[in-house]
Amino acid sequence: MIIPLPKPDAQTQPFWDACQEGRLICQRCTECHVVQFTPRARCMRCHSERLSWEASARQGTVMSFTRVHRAPNPAFKQKTPYVIAMLDMDEGFRLMTNASVAVQDSIGVGERVSVGFEQVEGMMLPIVQELT
Ligand SMILES: [Zn+2]
Repeated sequence: MIIPLPKPDAQTQPFWDACQEGRLICQRCTECHVVQFTPRARCMRCHSERLSWEASARQGTVMSFTRVHRAPNPAFKQKTPYVIAMLDMDEGFRLMTNASVAVQDSIGVGERVSVGFEQVEGMMLPIVQELT
């Protein structure tokens, strides 16, 4: 069974295009300067449509994580156990990613991490690459 992948839409296509190039980006409102994720058509604070894309340095802190032992569907069964982490990125947005096999046994809340990319079914997905 094939792993279900993100489905880019008009708002998220630039984000996924950047991932394909090994870049992590987020939106910043040019009116009130808030950073937001996931990408949207309008600023979630001031509703402006004037949003720009900004590169992330791919550094963040683990806000929370969970270790999955029971696959939610058959496609994920071969990956168990795996770790899903919520990261507070240094630019001010929150990102949910998987953790690489290399760090999944040592990851912890408050750990500093760097985000890389993992190719899944031809799509580059953000992943916790290493503890820093
Ligand atoms: Zn705004």
